[in-house]
Amino acid sequence: MISTPQLVANLPGRVIGPEDPEYDQARTVFYGGFDRRPAVIVRVADAGDVSRVVSFAREAGLELAVRGGGHSVAGHGVSDGGVVLDLSEMRALDIDADRRAAWAEAGSTAGEYTSAAAERGLATGFGDTGSVGIGGITLSGGVGFLVRKHGLTIDSLQAADVVTADGELLRADPETHPDLFWAIRGGGGNFGVATRFQFRLHELESFVGGFLVLPANPDVIASFVAEAEAAPNELSTIANVMPAPPLPFLPAEHHGRLVVLALLGYAGRVEDGQRAIAPFRALATPIADLVRPMSYPEMYPPEEGGYHPVAVARTMFLDTVDRRAAETMVDHLEAATATMAVTQIRVLGGAVARVSPGATAYAHRQSRIMVNVAALYERDEERVAHQAWVDALAGALRQRDAGAYVGFLGDEGEERVRAAYPGSTWDRLAAIKARYDPDNLFRLNQNIPPAAGHHER
Ligand SMILES: Cc1cc2nc3c(=O)[nH]c(=O)nc-3n(C[C@H](O)[C@H](O)[C@H](O)COP(=O)(O)OP(=O)(O)OC[C@H]3O[C@@H](n4cnc5c(N)ncnc54)[C@H](O)[C@@H]3O)c2cc1C
Repeated sequence: MISTPQLVANLPGRVIGPEDPEYDQARTVFYGGFDRRPAVIVRVADAGDVSRVVSFAREAGLELAVRGGGHSVAGHGVSDGGVVLDLSEMRALDIDADRRAAWAEAGSTAGEYTSAAAERGLATGFGDTGSVGIGGITLSGGVGFLVRKHGLTIDSLQAADVVTADGELLRADPETHPDLFWAIRGGGGNFGVATRFQFRLHELESFVGGFLVLPANPDVIASFVAEAEAAPNELSTIANVMPAPPLPFLPAEHHGRLVVLALLGYAGRVEDGQRAIAPFRALATPIADLVRPMSYPEMYPPEEGGYHPVAVARTMFLDTVDRRAAETMVDHLEAATATMAVTQIRVLGGAVARVSPGATAYAHRQSRIMVNVAALYERDEERVAHQAWVDALAGALRQRDAGAYVGFLGDEGEERVRAAYPGSTWDRLAAIKARYDPDNLFRLNQNIPPAAGHHER
């Protein structure tokens, strides 16, 4: 084992080893249940540092974890025994309001980017959580509150700077290394370390959003999804069907009873937003209605720093959530024994579906509804039971589409990674992987092994 003083001498950036007081905090990721002890964590300052750390890991033959916001469901942001390349101190943000474009370093979070852009009345869509890193979510695709209006995060990506396995810094955009630019829009961290992204910014002068909580029964759930599909593209929704958590805005008599805890976001004029949201309010007497005109960053409220849930989950796509599918959700959720069990429903379509399936590595353009079944639990020995519950509900819900969203995949094996890249997507990604990372240095991720025989660039 190499000693930390040796590493400090050889590595750029801020080097944190096992004897550093910061070590335990620095190796902690968002999800609990990962107790991995890297040989070293390197907090890099710029693309030059990134290149040196990549080359160091390659030459030393050490496993390399790339960490942005640390929210990987599979814990891929931390290595056991290897090197963690931690981007969290690379957070520069350069907004060009006139040209509606922003360069953002890859260690920024969705929340801080959103707040800075909103000061100019502008936005780029990320996900539903402010602390998620822009690196991981962008490379996955990015499904959030602007998804039907402006598409996935990658649909606003104009360029990226990427350090590849040989330590070289490349610009990836439609003209320069277009194959790499195609691959990073959904292909995850397989092709290199993105050091910064250039995003298109969209005007967002007004916004209506917030929680709408309705009692859950099969009719309300199915009607909610039907309304979300019929709504104008300005409206994006995330419906969590789950036992009501003890949130301060929910009356105590509802705690533990099945609700639709929905987040609605309307990107447009307030009056139009209120009109678009009215049908949802009419589905049942709301238990809580916090939907109001707000600034877009208010959709990302402050989060508790010490929250590290342990979860099992299954990401999938459905064509429809009809009454029967909704009944299946209710039956299974009522029988769940997890600390928190949830079926999350996101209606897509809109701007997502206007892009052709082959245009980016995210190929699920025609998949209408993204569903995530999840169970949060506390003790290790409960895992098997909750996994069985997740599998049973996902199996009962399954329709025609066998796809998976890579951003929500856990450590589920190669078949599930392949499900994220249907049709010819997998082969195309494997060929590009062979060109930019022939030895699979970037393998601590939802891995696409390099195809044989495609090595030249
Ligand atoms: C609470 C929560 C809410 C979420 N909500 C949404 C949502 O609404 N919509 C959505 O689309 N997704 C959502 N996600 C999924 C999220 O987008 C992915 O887990 C994403 O990978 C997290 O990115 P990160 O940088 O925070 O994570 P990390 O754990 O730091 O990174 C994950 C992996 O991405 C790769 N990676 C990250 N940054 C880089 C980089 N700069 N260069 C190369 N590779 C990199 C690496 O392989 C790394 O292992 C959510 C996740 C959580 C935990």
